[in-house]
Amino acid sequence: MLEQSNELSAWDRDHFFHPSTHMGTHARGESPARIMAGGEGVTVWDNTGKKSIDAFAGLYCVNVGYGRQKIADAIASQAKNLAYYHAYVGHGTEASITLAKMIIDRAPKGMSRVYFGLSGSDANETNIKLIWYYNNVLGRPEKKKIISRWRGYHGSGVMTGSLTGLELFHNAFDLPRAPIMHTEAPYYFRRADRSMSEEQFSQYCADKLEEMILAEGPDTVAAFIGEPILGTGGIVPPPAGYWQKIQAVLNKYDVLLVADEVVTGFGRLGTMFGSDHYGIKPDLITIAKGLTSAYAPLSGVIVSDKVWQVLVKGSDKLGSLGHGWTYSAHPICVAAGVANLELIDEMDLVKNAGETGAYFRAELVKAVGGHKHVGEVRGDGMLAAVEFVKDRDDRVFFDASLKVGPQIATALAANGVIGRAMPQGDILGFAPPLCLTREEADTIVAKTADAVKSVLASV
Ligand code: PMP
Repeated sequence: MLEQSNELSAWDRDHFFHPSTHMGTHARGESPARIMAGGEGVTVWDNTGKKSIDAFAGLYCVNVGYGRQKIADAIASQAKNLAYYHAYVGHGTEASITLAKMIIDRAPKGMSRVYFGLSGSDANETNIKLIWYYNNVLGRPEKKKIISRWRGYHGSGVMTGSLTGLELFHNAFDLPRAPIMHTEAPYYFRRADRSMSEEQFSQYCADKLEEMILAEGPDTVAAFIGEPILGTGGIVPPPAGYWQKIQAVLNKYDVLLVADEVVTGFGRLGTMFGSDHYGIKPDLITIAKGLTSAYAPLSGVIVSDKVWQVLVKGSDKLGSLGHGWTYSAHPICVAAGVANLELIDEMDLVKNAGETGAYFRAELVKAVGGHKHVGEVRGDGMLAAVEFVKDRDDRVFFDASLKVGPQIATALAANGVIGRAMPQGDILGFAPPLCLTREEADTIVAKTADAVKSVLASV
């Protein structure tokens, strides 16, 4: 076993180009590498046999937990019967049609069609193109700009990496590209003036958005995109009244709203969609991750009837849609999606995400909320974050070079719990599988408290 591990590790360093990894330290063997081998429920293990609680569900995607036989069987059965057929020119499979219907049945009111892709990034590419198509059909060729938010995360392609509002994803790639712009992040803890209430800060964000629309010209602004709760940007719930005030501005200038529900779709906030949770009325919704619990790659754009009616009208003039992927509605992936959505219902996971998620956050607050270097414990549903600060009263942040957040995440991982050091700021994030139990939550909290105390004692 050890020999094989050593050989695999050498192949890994020499041939595997990892995403989102420091290329130099990995290739030189200076940073930890881990070869994952199996999983069951919320637990994963590597090829040395070391077990961990995965308190980030992979990349907030393994919502039903690992090792679910039902989904594995659905994948195997579809692979045997018909592993592939395309979805072009009106083709489908029983699973693709069934899954589209199941999604619309669960989606917020007013949604009517699902366009399938493979990743959150390609689904947001689809969104951009549908938004441009929509305005071309409506005879408004100048209305093409898309406003995103600093700290938003929407993918890492050229256009979707531009939508993303994190420096790491822009630097060294000449991003963002026009016609994409960024407005204020709804991040009350970091961005609000101390004298502001949450409602006042929400109004400030809405005013900033309106200023941008007016400065650019409302006839040039097509859409606004946002995650219901900021995810990779720091797991930051919206301040009170935020979405209502933002939507009032969008409606005033006829700007479409895209809710990126790649993380929040299918239960993570204790409701089927985050839009329902916060009273958002989107025109388009991005889905991925929880759609199959990552048992197979699948994403989608849910299109509202309002947008669909325009697209259909356009096709009578413009011909068939010049946008498709070889693997759109891939039979194996949609079969995994059907089994996954059934399992979410059977295991009552949406309810558990709300209830056990609330318990988990309350226990985290009790365990670490009072520490002098903990600025905030926050989250919603089965999402939580702890933000570390040098001085909590004056909101002074640690120098990034100290790597306080990453050090705490590393100490926690060494003790058998995987959280995530969020990429911008000293923020430890949690997004456990939605099947988390209270006992498992207690273990995560106890080990987090140990890691927080030991690392912060030496900073
Ligand atoms: N949108 C959101 C909100 C995401 O969190 C992510 C991935 N973390 C994406 C889009 C991009 O998805 P993918 O990595 O599958 O391209």
